[in-house]
Amino acid sequence: MKRVGVLGGGQLARMLALAGLPLDLRLRAWDPAADPPAAPVAEHVQGDWGDPAALERFLRGLDVATLELEGVPVATAEAVAARVPLCPSPRALAATRDRLEEKRLALAHGIATAPFAAVDDEAKLVAALHEVGLPAVLKRRTEGYDGRGQAVVRDAASALRAWRDLGGAPSVLEGFVAFEREVSIVAVRALDGRVAFYPVVENLHRDGILRRTIAPAPGVSAEIETAARDLAARLLEALGYVGVAAFELFEVGGRLLLNEIAPRVHNSGHWTIEGASTSQFENHLRAVTGLPLGSTEPLGFSAMCNLIGDVPDPAALLAIPGAHLHLYGKEPRAGRKIGHVTVRATDRDGLLDVLGRVERVIGGTA
Ligand code: AMP
Repeated sequence: MKRVGVLGGGQLARMLALAGLPLDLRLRAWDPAADPPAAPVAEHVQGDWGDPAALERFLRGLDVATLELEGVPVATAEAVAARVPLCPSPRALAATRDRLEEKRLALAHGIATAPFAAVDDEAKLVAALHEVGLPAVLKRRTEGYDGRGQAVVRDAASALRAWRDLGGAPSVLEGFVAFEREVSIVAVRALDGRVAFYPVVENLHRDGILRRTIAPAPGVSAEIETAARDLAARLLEALGYVGVAAFELFEVGGRLLLNEIAPRVHNSGHWTIEGASTSQFENHLRAVTGLPLGSTEPLGFSAMCNLIGDVPDPAALLAIPGAHLHLYGKEPRAGRKIGHVTVRATDRDGLLDVLGRVERVIGGTA
């Protein structure tokens, strides 16, 4: 038995805990919330990120620690890493929780991104608009997720409004990318440096929130698959990364632009629970505890739909053959991810058929 500590107790920690049980890995989740999604399946340590007593409770008897959200302050990660191995490291967290640092890292390794410029004040915003051009997207450097903390800007006036709406927080202005589609690759790097990849998947977002993932992404060229693996491997290596990470990408004109790195298991990898030989959650735990990685081979064709805001009738979903329902135990609220459904089929036509049935049930909520 090993005790694995997780910074954050959301649905990702909940699914990590479930994946850890068969390997007798016991999870302890530190989360400021009173009853986070991981609480029913992991030992919950409640406390703010700066709370020294919570830190001590979290560390007691821990073998290794990891994280499930990048909003954790780097200082908390450093306090943990000073006492117990933390994978990914505070350095990897610092480089990926900040959109500007992330883009600088990509640039330093020859990985293409949208054009970007740092925005710290109104003068910099004006300069950034000239440098990057319009339309553009203004994003907070930290703490933005699911489309929050960012706005599309079409002219100087809307840019200024967006900047004020973001509270004047340190931001980055990015050129708006007229992508053909969004894809991502989930990769896992072991303690010994070995890297394994899940196939490139196709992601559909609405209002900045992931709605649907199709795995593998239909019609991916060998060049795109190789390019995605190559950029993921280079960045993982550069960060000395251990564990699962996801790379969100724009596919445009036959090439890939890096949008974001998630230093954790990722929503676009949830399909791997039923759709791959080894799930992203199990592989993450294998990596951080020094176990051999499991096969990332897909089992047929899969799709994952997020349940956002409201719970559809579970019986209607479960009546669809091959549909797997995952609820996170969260209070329904507009724009909130409260669960997901995964479907699997042996061929693409079968997948589209069952996916259509699922989307008809969740249509009102997706
Ligand atoms: P992010 O939080 O950066 O992952 O952004 C959320 C979503 O907003 C992305 O998945 C895209 O659909 C969209 N988006 C973000 N940045 C850009 C961009 N530079 N150009 C076009 N769309 C974007």
